[in-house]
Amino acid sequence: MSENNLDSLIELGERLGGNPLLSHANTGNISLKDHEGLWVKISGASLADARRRGIFMRVNLLRAQACLDTGQDHWLVSGNDAAESLRPSIETPMHAVISRRAVIHLHSVNAVAWSVRGDARERLGAHLSGLPWRWIRFAPSGVPLAREIARVRGHVQVFILANHGLVVSADTCGEAEALVYEVEKRLAVPLRSGPPADLNRLKYLIDESGWRPASDERLHALATDPVSRRIVTGGVLYPCHAIFLRGPATVVDPITRVSDAVRAHMRRHGVRPDFLIFRDAGVLVHDGMDGPRREMLQALAEVAARIPDHAAVRWLTPGELSTLGGMTAAYWRQEHQAERQQMLCLTPAELNRLYNAVVADNEKRHVAIFTLVCRCGLGGAQVLDLRASDVRDLDIEPSDIETMGPWIRHLAGVPDAFFASGCRRKLSVAEMDTLMKYYGAIAGIPAQKRRWTALPAERFAATA
Ligand SMILES: [Zn+2]
Repeated sequence: MSENNLDSLIELGERLGGNPLLSHANTGNISLKDHEGLWVKISGASLADARRRGIFMRVNLLRAQACLDTGQDHWLVSGNDAAESLRPSIETPMHAVISRRAVIHLHSVNAVAWSVRGDARERLGAHLSGLPWRWIRFAPSGVPLAREIARVRGHVQVFILANHGLVVSADTCGEAEALVYEVEKRLAVPLRSGPPADLNRLKYLIDESGWRPASDERLHALATDPVSRRIVTGGVLYPCHAIFLRGPATVVDPITRVSDAVRAHMRRHGVRPDFLIFRDAGVLVHDGMDGPRREMLQALAEVAARIPDHAAVRWLTPGELSTLGGMTAAYWRQEHQAERQQMLCLTPAELNRLYNAVVADNEKRHVAIFTLVCRCGLGGAQVLDLRASDVRDLDIEPSDIETMGPWIRHLAGVPDAFFASGCRRKLSVAEMDTLMKYYGAIAGIPAQKRRWTALPAERFAATA
């Protein structure tokens, strides 16, 4: 059936990902089963990128289903760093256990707003009447959530996941999408807006660079609407709230200067904040806040504005929050790794000195390695994984080919030989670091940067 192929899944992802009320940042995942396997979104990718980059991967259906018996989904969430971008979604066991072919899981703001309400179970019946739906109590992502879904018997196509979101399934992508729109229409909640932001007050409070008032009026409601403010400061509403936004927001008095608010936040949480909520005045956002976290913050404001004042809010319990530890740690580990990596990068001047030190030593093999790093746009970590076959595809300057030529010729015809070692044996990070220490000392590179991973991928950063 033409409606059930990878193309239809890509089109579906693109449409859902283009609607910020349905999917934001990298939330939401969709899948499609056929006879042998399951196409499912890769971890960390955004549905909006469905067309631009390959965001779906193929998973063995039986293996994914077997996770429920073994409880082992480590093959989904671990693996070496190189394969990081190619892990299937953490929710793959859930997609696998649902028998219908097309599955859509979203953190749509209407569904999430309902999912955190204490009165949702009794009230949703009226909204979703006639639809085959079930309420699923909170369970952490992965195998635990898949097991909760698997316990449900009978013909059910719509699952409302407590403190999480929505899952819909159907036999085709088109039917599943239509069902999403039907459910969303029924779950739509009128939006409460707060008083406008006090932009002059906010600008007055800014006494360090990089901060500016949020550009979206809806976001300011987190500060100016007392109901939204109470909801987002009272606890953690859903896992992404804890993972991306570091838990409940803190509210600052609108007489506190930004630098003082930042210091207070750092004392309390150990990290610099990238947004600040000033009571009744509005929200300041730091330029360093990345796109996904901005979308998460926006979604939080959208969710809070859809929870009525009278509704009881069900925040995640301490026990439930403790189950998120692994996911939170993994997310921040990645973030900090990126930060550390940046800190350890060599400056263009240092890279230049390093390159000259290697060239002066005139050790052909070393010159070739460092030429790759310094002149051909490869980072130290990339060179470690380089194979001879890759080298032939590199866009190498003629002058560099001269330097590396003898060595490349030596390697020609040796399939999969690791380029950086010049032999069939791959050089270890430790061996490469010995090289870095040696040349780094000659070139006067600071000791903490004399590591192979410190070599940045900067095209033509150095000149001989
Ligand atoms: Zn989810």
